[in-house]
Amino acid sequence: MAVIVQKFGGTSVANAEKIRAAARRAVEAKRGGYDVVVVVSARGHKTDELVELAKEITSHPRPREMDMLLSTGEQESVALMAMAVHELGEEAISLTGAQIGVLTDTTHTKARIVSISTKRMQELLKAGNIVIAAGFQGVDAEMNITTLGRGGSDTTATALAAVLNAELCEIYTDVEGIFTTDPRLVPEARKVEHISYDEMLELASLGAGVMHSRSIEFAKKYRVQLRVRPAYSDGPGTLIAPESDEVTSVVTGVAFVRYEAMITLVGLPDQPGVMSTLFSSLSAAKIPVDMVVQNVAREGTANVTFTVAEDELPDALTVANAAAASLQAQDVVATTGLSKVSVVGHGMQTHTGVAARMFQVLAAHGINIRVVTTSEIKISVLIDRSRCNDAVQAAHSGFELNKVTSSLPQVGCASNGHRSGSVDVASPELTADIVSRLDSMESIVVSDITADIDQSRVTLSNLPDDPGIAEAVFTAIAEGGVLVDMIVQNAARDGQATISFTVPRSDLDCAILLLREVMETYAGSIVTSDRRIGKISVAGIGLRSHTEVGARMFRCLAANSINVEMINTSELKLCVVISANEADLAMTQLRSEFGLDTNV
Ligand code: ADP
Ligand code: ASP
Ligand code: MG
Repeated sequence: MAVIVQKFGGTSVANAEKIRAAARRAVEAKRGGYDVVVVVSARGHKTDELVELAKEITSHPRPREMDMLLSTGEQESVALMAMAVHELGEEAISLTGAQIGVLTDTTHTKARIVSISTKRMQELLKAGNIVIAAGFQGVDAEMNITTLGRGGSDTTATALAAVLNAELCEIYTDVEGIFTTDPRLVPEARKVEHISYDEMLELASLGAGVMHSRSIEFAKKYRVQLRVRPAYSDGPGTLIAPESDEVTSVVTGVAFVRYEAMITLVGLPDQPGVMSTLFSSLSAAKIPVDMVVQNVAREGTANVTFTVAEDELPDALTVANAAAASLQAQDVVATTGLSKVSVVGHGMQTHTGVAARMFQVLAAHGINIRVVTTSEIKISVLIDRSRCNDAVQAAHSGFELNKVTSSLPQVGCASNGHRSGSVDVASPELTADIVSRLDSMESIVVSDITADIDQSRVTLSNLPDDPGIAEAVFTAIAEGGVLVDMIVQNAARDGQATISFTVPRSDLDCAILLLREVMETYAGSIVTSDRRIGKISVAGIGLRSHTEVGARMFRCLAANSINVEMINTSELKLCVVISANEADLAMTQLRSEFGLDTNV
């Protein structure tokens, strides 16, 4: 019989009435001929309450005991849900993570799933039961209870759907489906009918809390059909599935992280190995880094800026201080009170002017951009927290996301190409083959490494730190129809900002001409360029959240004395700009580092 997994979030099981409604859905599916597995979260704000309770006892609860505590929330829900199903006249049995056989690693509060045994669930389903599984929890090899991180029940549900080969995994929640942004913040946000795994993975990883980003990694890796649906009505929700060829809008959604912090290491030696040391230390502490910016070195020293979620700041600072000491940096500066706002969409790969429009709408609202980074399907900006809501609303209306088909900026006249690297994403077959050989369900998947040696870098420095600078630069470039690929704007120091970006080499002279007027406006600004750069992309699934991928990439480059000029990260790709002369060496070394066949 076909299996269906239904997951109910906290608000959808908050009280007896809602538990009964959820049980009715499960029973309906069972009577409709499915084998049903229900995954349940803790009721309402239970997990938050447990966190608060722990804080009343100690400011430093040990992670093992936190997991023991937090797992009780889901244990309560599964028992109640099973009772509700019994009341409706069907057989049901509740199981904790340990009873299902969800084996995880030992990283308490952020554990990753190693394997799930299906035996007990299969037997119970065969015997006619609805299986009610506790979300968010598992056990390590020593039988210590672990949890998967906040929001982790989505990941339990998709992982169960993957191992049970379920026909569908339904995520029941308190909204109609996936919206163009958080409908709580932007009431005009529009529900989308479907969204690709890649876009959803990026949105979730960049702050769209509606789905745990690791659940989308599972869905993509194991090809699980996911439908996010309202628990309170019969709305069809949103299908999360492989990308369709049809691109209706350039930007699919806006995500934000309200509490973001930035750390800058000042005065680092400009030599290979700096990024490697920093990333290795952050990775060892399991701190995911998102925006990473390294400025072009001046007088032999460079600054590196990266952002982390604000609640990770104390740990990240400890790591940064240690790395700074070993690298002999001059200073470590932390900035709080920031937010990160990102726009995500496949259409960006082929349309010019997306960055320009983003910067225009922010400038029109007088929002100063502190840092910019991009990847092929997203643009992220770091801004003051006081402007977070304004920026999200401005981006949402600036890209006309309330409309089904927004007006697309025209494809540029310059080289009319795709953004580099956009067409070489590894095939589903190759990914499936790699996934089938993983030793642990959540092991990283690096499916391809490619080099693009047809790009050039442009850097503008000595720019004032004012709203509207990025707009002026990228509007000028977009008007010439040049497709910009990577963009990095550094945190300003001493009131001066630096912006670097890459363009197809055939458009470099055109881009520099287009910038002439901007440079005249900002007296003292300087343009430099590097005609022959190599952009190396490591493609896979969940690359940013698997912090060790960046660490391994930088370690490998450093071991081969390759200097990194620019970096961008996404869940799908990590890219670095290096000298074109070193591209071949970098490719060979990275392919062997990640175990990819060098003859491909
Ligand atoms: P659950 O308890 O069901 O897991 P969550 O609170 O984790 O629910 O997620 C649902 C919430 O996610 C919504 O109430 C909504 O405010 C928020 N959200 C953030 N971004 C989005 C988005 N792009 N689309 C839909 N909801 C979003
Ligand atoms: N109860 C957990 C949390 O609140 C897991 C979840 O709801 O997905 O984070
Ligand atoms: Mg959730």
